[in-house]
Formats: sequence, C-alpha cells, structure tokens
Amino acid sequence: MEAKLRRHVVMVPFMAKGHLLPFLELAHRILHHNANLTITIVSTPLNINYLRSAIANDPTPPPQIHLRSLPFNSSDHGLPPNSESTEGLTFTQIIKLFYASTTLEAPLREFISDVIVKEGTAPACIISDNFMGWANEVARSFGTVNYTFTTGGAYGTTAFCSICMNLPQRNIADGGTHDHFPVPGFPESFQFSITQHHPYYRAADGKDEWSIYFLPQLSHCLQSNGWLCHTVEEIETTGCEALRNFTKLPLWCTGPLLPSKMLKTNSGMDTASGVNVIGNPEKCIKWLDSHARGSVLYVSFGSQNTLSETQMMELAQGLEESKKSFIWVIRPPIGFDIKSEFKPEWLPSGFEDRIRNQGLLVHNWAPQLDILCHQSTGAFLSHCGWNSVMESLSQGVPLIGWPLAAEQGFNAKMLVEEMGVCVVLRTGVVDSTIGKEEVKKVIEVVLDKNEDGKGNDMRKKATELRKLMHASVNGSSYKAMADFVSTFSSI
Ligand code: UDP
Repeated sequence: MEAKLRRHVVMVPFMAKGHLLPFLELAHRILHHNANLTITIVSTPLNINYLRSAIANDPTPPPQIHLRSLPFNSSDHGLPPNSESTEGLTFTQIIKLFYASTTLEAPLREFISDVIVKEGTAPACIISDNFMGWANEVARSFGTVNYTFTTGGAYGTTAFCSICMNLPQRNIADGGTHDHFPVPGFPESFQFSITQHHPYYRAADGKDEWSIYFLPQLSHCLQSNGWLCHTVEEIETTGCEALRNFTKLPLWCTGPLLPSKMLKTNSGMDTASGVNVIGNPEKCIKWLDSHARGSVLYVSFGSQNTLSETQMMELAQGLEESKKSFIWVIRPPIGFDIKSEFKPEWLPSGFEDRIRNQGLLVHNWAPQLDILCHQSTGAFLSHCGWNSVMESLSQGVPLIGWPLAAEQGFNAKMLVEEMGVCVVLRTGVVDSTIGKEEVKKVIEVVLDKNEDGKGNDMRKKATELRKLMHASVNGSSYKAMADFVSTFSSI
C-alpha cells in the first residue's frame, strides 16, 4: 500500500505574546515554500483568541493555517483565574505557568491522534518552543520528527540555555568581587556577568524550581531534529556559531519574522501583513508626523513588563529633563494589576501637564510597529526583548537597553559589544535602581545629531544591520527556510 503523504505541521508555542506572533509568522513562511501543507497552532483558549484576532487583521489569511484550543484551567495550577499567558504575572507566578504548560501534553496527544485518524498518517513534524521541550517526546511517540524553535536571538538563547544547563556561575568563588565567567558554547574569551542575568537564574543551583523545569525541557530540545531561530545569520554571526556549538544540531536562521510592512519586500513573500496593529495607530502617527526626522525617543518594555514605582518616577523625570520628544507606553507599576486604571500619583506631580508638548503617554499598549516604522522615531528605550530588538533593527533604530528579565541582559550585551547599536542604561535586571540623571544622559548621547558623536555611529551601524536584515528576506533566511521545509518534507 502506498504510504500517505504527511502534510500536517503542528506548532506548539509558549504562552506569551512575544512567542505567539513569531510562530504565526513562521507558519506563513513555511507555507510560502510549500502551500500544500496544513499548519495547526495549538495553545490555550486565551492565546488562541489572541492569534485569531491577529489573523483577523490579515486581509488575506492563508486557509492552511488552523488554530486549535487545548483545554487549560489556570486555577488548577495555583494561578489567578484566566492566567494563560505571562502577561500580568509575577516572576513567581510565571514559573507556575511553565510547570502548568506541561499539562497541555495530554490534549496535544489527543489532537494528534485525531489527525492520524482523519489523515491516515502522523503529522510531518511538530515545531515546538524551546520552553516546551516536552513536545519532543510527543513527536517521537507518534513516529514523527520534532524541531525546536527559539523566538529569541541566537546569542541570547545560547547564553540563557547554556547557563541553565551548565550553571557556569557556580564556579565564581564565594564572596569574590570578580563576577565574570565564560559560558560553554561561546569562546573562552567571552566573559559574561552575573548581573546580566535575572536574580532567579543567578541563584540557580540545579535543584531550584527554575532548574527543575528548564533542565529536562532543554535536554529534550537538544534531542530534537534541529533548531530554528528567529534571527538573521549575517547580523548574529557570533551568536549563530555559539548556538551551533551548544546544540550540535542543524540550525536554520529564518528571521526577521516580521510583517511585510516592516520589510518592504517586493518578493511576493506571504508574511502575516497586518498582524500586530492592535492599539490605535492613528493618534501616534499623527503625533509623530508633527516631529522632525529621528527626533523622537520611543519608550516601551514589551508586552508584559512594567517598572517599580521608583523606577517610573526617575524615568519620568529623566525624560522630562532631557527635553527630547518621546512616546512612552505606561502601565501601572509592579505590585498592581497591569490592566487596572493608571493613577496620576505614579508619575511626578504635574508631569502630564508639563510634558504635554514634549511627550505622548500611551496607556498599556502602543502600535509599536507603526511607531518604529515612522521616520521621526530616532531611538528606542527598550527592555531588549528579542522581538523589540528585531523590530527596531529592521528599521535602523538604535536602542537604549534596560533589560528586565529572561535573556534580555544577554541581548543587551550583544547589542553593545557585537553590534554597537545600543547603550545600556542598566545592566542589572528587574531589581535595578535608576537615577533621572543617568536617563537624561543616555538619551542625550543616543539622540545627539553630532556627526562625530556616538549617537551617529550607532545610527550608522543600525542602518547597516537594517540593510542586512532586509537582504536576508530574499537571501540567507529565504534559503534557510527553503532548506528547512524540504528537509522535513522529505522525511
Ligand atoms: N508590543 C506592542 N505594543 C506594546 C508593547 C509590545 O506592539 O505596547 C509588541 C512588540 O511589537 C513585540 C512584542 O509586543 O512584538 C513584545 O515582544 P518582545 O520579545 O520585545 O518582549 P516580551 O513582551 O516578550 O518581553
């Protein structure tokens, strides 16, 4: 009997906005190379709704992309009701979400069994997040292959995963002042600092709750058939080499996984155009239109983070005293529900009135892509989440880094040391104190128009990276995606 063709790809993203959209974009890219496939993205109901609204913004959504809700009850896992993503969760709750994500295994198995009954064969592959290594075991048990997709960059992912697995920070002598250590995967000469890592991971000893979750998950990922990375080979040569050294597996760099409006490609590439226009762009665009080219600082800390009350006060004063124009996405500070109403007392007294002609405050969610695409945006004060980095660099916008969690400290290190497109405001994460003077100073450096200044140098480098990223859409990333699709299609 002739074997049935395997045409179904199942995707298992981690439950966070910054992971869901790159998976969706990856689905579009795969279909560009093989339109005969069906791709199902599985997640919890809330995340599937988010993806549904993202797809609804697409004027021509590909019919081959399907979304499948898997049952999930957050209160079973000690999480607040309806907590199905990292948004609004504390770090202690986020670890619970990681553990809870493993309960999606049983419904995923049921879904795959259904696919087998309907299609007479197993899916062609499962592509799972590097935080969801358990999906590798699911793929194997159904006789199919598994690929790990990291929505982070190559450098940050390698540092994050290698530190989790090898705990190199444990070699620092107790009480010593020297806080630097090499990370397996990177050349010995690359020194990482403990302060670039989140306090939870800094304290990891292999027996703590983060290690107990991540060690087996990452070990599973290292057993998968290969890794996909949301990066561009040419902009992250060091990082890609490190990731290959670390995984010892095939690596396909398929970035930038951004909507076509950010890439202005005429290749006919079917990207998820229109995705991520949630938030009302008109007001921001109108405001930006009235400003000079490269004069505005955009300030945002990603989809789920917020600052402490003190950090917010200092940042506000630093912005005001810099006298530069800015758009700032504001949210209630740490300790408050980030979706609750914003109280004026979280900002310096009279701040909103005084900055009326200088800045635009956007509550909770801004149309980030539209802002970064606008010619008036000159710099981005960011937590260095990888999507934000890719979005900023794709428009040649240099960054001011204020990493807060996850692998963001390593992203910032790379942006400074490897790319020269970033000034770091604070190397410490999440618990860092910040002074208004430092804020003012870095804004002045980065937005400075002086020909010989650091700001100009950063802009030039960011422009070069932008060119490399845009070229990769029809170049290295296109080839990598074609190779990836033909690899799993021929198994
Ligand atoms: N984002 C947005 N508006 C906001 C905040 C975030 O559109 O006000 C989007 C941003 O464009 C990016 C994603 O949310 O695509 C954030 O992802 P990133 O990896 O930068 O950070 P994370 O949220 O995962 O920490």
